[in-house]
Amino acid sequence: EKWVEYAKDNNALILFDSAYEAYITEPDIPHSIYEIPGAKDVAIEFRSFSKTAGFTGLRCGYTVVPKALKGLSKNGDEVSLNALWNRRQCTKFNGASYIVQRAAEALYSTKGRHQVKETIAYYMRNASLLRNGLSAAGLEVWGGVNAPYIWVKTPGGLSSWEFFDLLLEKCGIAGTPGLGFGPSGEGYFRLTAFGRYEDTVAAVERLSSLKLNK
Ligand SMILES: *Cc1c(COP(=O)(O)O)cnc(C)c1O
Repeated sequence: EKWVEYAKDNNALILFDSAYEAYITEPDIPHSIYEIPGAKDVAIEFRSFSKTAGFTGLRCGYTVVPKALKGLSKNGDEVSLNALWNRRQCTKFNGASYIVQRAAEALYSTKGRHQVKETIAYYMRNASLLRNGLSAAGLEVWGGVNAPYIWVKTPGGLSSWEFFDLLLEKCGIAGTPGLGFGPSGEGYFRLTAFGRYEDTVAAVERLSSLKLNK
């Protein structure tokens, strides 16, 4: 709501990346920016099959550009962003291949929906395992709910990259230094739940035996 309000007040456009929408379980979290009143006037939303159904290699997603969205051309005329986007897509992109479209369509079948649910539950089980394990090891933890990533504060004032080296060398675990997300990420670290369950169990065991000095 704050973002939508800001965009309205400042003539700004929101690009809302909804890649993990399918991982939302808590009832009070919106699944789409358009659940916020007024968002159709200020927001574009991206949706992807990548994390919902393992389409990272197949490549399929879609973009919602509401017809109400208007921009200004160089000479100050109002232009429809939907029309601009449609022209751009029709000119520069010939569409997802037919076989990929059929695969994406299959997600909406009864069987497809069921399989997607199962897959996401599998990863979210990893997420809570990581979340609980890291927390029990004494680390400060965020995430792992409504999204398949777990964030930790690096212990003992280590930098993102120092903690990366420590986990790699002492535990054989690779993660993502927070610094890679920008300067505010320094001192934080991201672990993913997108692994095999057995590997996640092993990772938590190794992390727990680390003598972390907080
Ligand atoms: C994976 C990911 C994407 C990329 O989606 P693709 O459809 O594979 O291009 C975009 N945003 C976020 C946050 C992601 O994690």
